[in-house]
Amino acid sequence: GLPRDLVGMLRAVVDAHPGAEALVELGGERLTYGQLWDRATRVAGGLRAAGVGPGDRVANRLPNGNDWVLVFWGTLLAGAVVVPVNTRFTEPEVRYVVEDSGAAYVVEPGADLPDGEPLAVTDQGHTDLAGIFYTSGTTGFPKGAMTTHENFLSNVETCLRCLALPRDEQLSTLVSVPLFHVTGCNSQLLVVTAVAGTSVVMPAFEVGAFLRAIEDERISVLTTVPAIYWLALQQPGFADVDTSSVRALSYGGAPIAPDLVHRLQAAFPTARVGNGFGLTETSSVSTYLPDEYAAAHADSVGFPAPVVDLDVADPDPVTGVGELLIRGPNVVAGYWRKPEQTAETFVGGWLHSGDLARIDDEGLVYVVDRKKDMINRGGENVYCVEVENALAAHPAVGEVAVVGVPDPMMGEKVGAVVVPLPGRAVDPADLLAFARERLADFKVPQYVAVRSDPLPRNPGGKVLKPSLREHTDWTPVR
Ligand code: ATP
Repeated sequence: GLPRDLVGMLRAVVDAHPGAEALVELGGERLTYGQLWDRATRVAGGLRAAGVGPGDRVANRLPNGNDWVLVFWGTLLAGAVVVPVNTRFTEPEVRYVVEDSGAAYVVEPGADLPDGEPLAVTDQGHTDLAGIFYTSGTTGFPKGAMTTHENFLSNVETCLRCLALPRDEQLSTLVSVPLFHVTGCNSQLLVVTAVAGTSVVMPAFEVGAFLRAIEDERISVLTTVPAIYWLALQQPGFADVDTSSVRALSYGGAPIAPDLVHRLQAAFPTARVGNGFGLTETSSVSTYLPDEYAAAHADSVGFPAPVVDLDVADPDPVTGVGELLIRGPNVVAGYWRKPEQTAETFVGGWLHSGDLARIDDEGLVYVVDRKKDMINRGGENVYCVEVENALAAHPAVGEVAVVGVPDPMMGEKVGAVVVPLPGRAVDPADLLAFARERLADFKVPQYVAVRSDPLPRNPGGKVLKPSLREHTDWTPVR
């Protein structure tokens, strides 16, 4: 059993394993748990001296690195609430987050870290607010997901159970995604911390450095987004990388093409491979597809996490698809200072995820689209993920994204943006012939745009579909 608050979790690990390596900044400093505790309690003291009291919010604008983690723990050790700030936010968005959270202190990049007499506020309330994670804000201003100690710890417990990590070795994870999002913070840093493992943090992502770090740091728990795995497997030198340390490999945060799952299993033969699905509002993981199902059900996000209940609202009588509802101790307490949006999204304890999904007879969950991305083609629903997976199976296709294209008669038609693999060409007519063998006619795209640039993505690896809808020049192919 885990302690009831995050500070208690860290304290227990520091007491038991003070000399174990806690934190490595790639190309920078290495810290043991003992050193991490000393530094973080001093950050806490510095914050307190600057007037930060229990329950106050501390906005953290730092990029990925050891200092980010020291500010995270320092804030919690002061009894305050962490507010990670997306480093890609524009100044108006940052101002919004700082003001909306009512931050008492903002940690700015380049400024000296807070420093003072060591301070550790212990025995914090299980259901007290510990963090506010702002969503990307692709629709309107960002909303702050109120994450309690219980929310954080239930995700740690879920990840430990789902990843089934070996207990007899020093584990290490490579943080290649932003720490200001829940995957990096909740499902990597905190999970590995709970077992006194090492978090190796990349200050900036670069695929060569990512592969070298797997080998040099003997990474055992590899977690990142599909787009990064895709890039890694494309690297000419991939075959020479020693990946034999990897025990658990997880992907998630965005849909993955089944073909990539199969390639990952082949490329990382020592690893158990699995898919983790979740949202900021579920403190990260809500479902997990374990290794023994990953090959045969590569298009599934797996089974509900042990502590999570799932339901599908108003399922379509034919396809069974409806909005995925999620309930459990990982579901956050609501949106900070947004009672109306909280009431709309969190109904009777159920989070309305905004994802469309179906659940099969075995209990496997399939996320078929996001509600706001689904295409309505003259009354027929087209779920993007199904079309994307069908097109991604074409041997010349590297990346693909499917979006609705406005149409005066049909309302919307199906458009596919395709990036060929390096050195390959995609012929739209040939691609559609390929698609017709795999998809019902109404799902086959009417538009194909071939581009050479990679698809635009956010740091979480999600394709920026609004940008594709706005900027793609469409020529009909049928
Ligand atoms: P906003 O809600 O503001 O658009 P966002 O999309 O970045 O922000 P997150 O909470 O980071 O919000 O992402 C959650 C979404 O990511 C899920 O609702 C789902 O659509 C997608 N997602 C996460 N994991 C997976 C997965 N394993 N497979 C498919 N989709 C996933």
